[in-house]
Amino acid sequence: MSHVMIRVDVARLLIAGHSDIAISRKLKADANVIARTRAQLGLPKVKPGNRPAASPEELFWHRVQPTPDGHMDWTGFRASNGTLGLRHNGTFHTAYRIAYRIANNREPQGKAQPNCTHDHCVKPGHHDDRIDRDARHAHALALARSAPVTLEEQFQVYAIPTADGHMDWTGPRCKGLPVAHHDGRQESVYRIAFRTAHGREPDGHVRPICGHDDCVKPGHHADHTIRQQEPRVDTLYDAIFGTISP
Ligand SMILES: [Zn+2]
Ligand SMILES: [Zn+2]
Repeated sequence: MSHVMIRVDVARLLIAGHSDIAISRKLKADANVIARTRAQLGLPKVKPGNRPAASPEELFWHRVQPTPDGHMDWTGFRASNGTLGLRHNGTFHTAYRIAYRIANNREPQGKAQPNCTHDHCVKPGHHDDRIDRDARHAHALALARSAPVTLEEQFQVYAIPTADGHMDWTGPRCKGLPVAHHDGRQESVYRIAFRTAHGREPDGHVRPICGHDDCVKPGHHADHTIRQQEPRVDTLYDAIFGTISP
């Protein structure tokens, strides 16, 4: 896995919002190493010198933690209703809206919501607004009319996110269980979701373990191996980011 290439001291300063030049001066780190680490963390370039007064976008980067699988968690304020965000000059900004502005350079229309499979993801680029959702819906309709072909397309068209963080299957079923078709073969959607989440073939039966009936959301299933194991802490994640404080 490429994350072992990350230099922890460089990553810390990048996450704290320092510019490449400042980091290379401070740590005598190679510019290529800094650039690669910045890219792996998905952080934007910071211009050296005349720093503007802290903006919500700038404050945002001090309150995120990258996950090993390419998303970001929020380490900042969480309102009692679960909304993630920060206060700037007396105005509350949700983390999703800031992330959206960073990625798209415009205000989101309607609600900005994560469009990835990571719960409460705040990584810029992982959100849709109303315009995006309409476009996605139109795209899904067009795909459906032309009959989705690949397993990924079928997943995109038939797996519908629920309000409480799961996914329902609106596609074909066999003996009541969600299935997809490819190359004349039929496959369990649970197995497809498992491969998506774990990057390997499952062994033995694959079943949802989240409590949502027939859930097809990647990450919500266990195979025989996982059922035998205790839940594991992601030691790689801890090794890289464990000691960073926002
Ligand atoms: Zn994400
Ligand atoms: Zn679920």
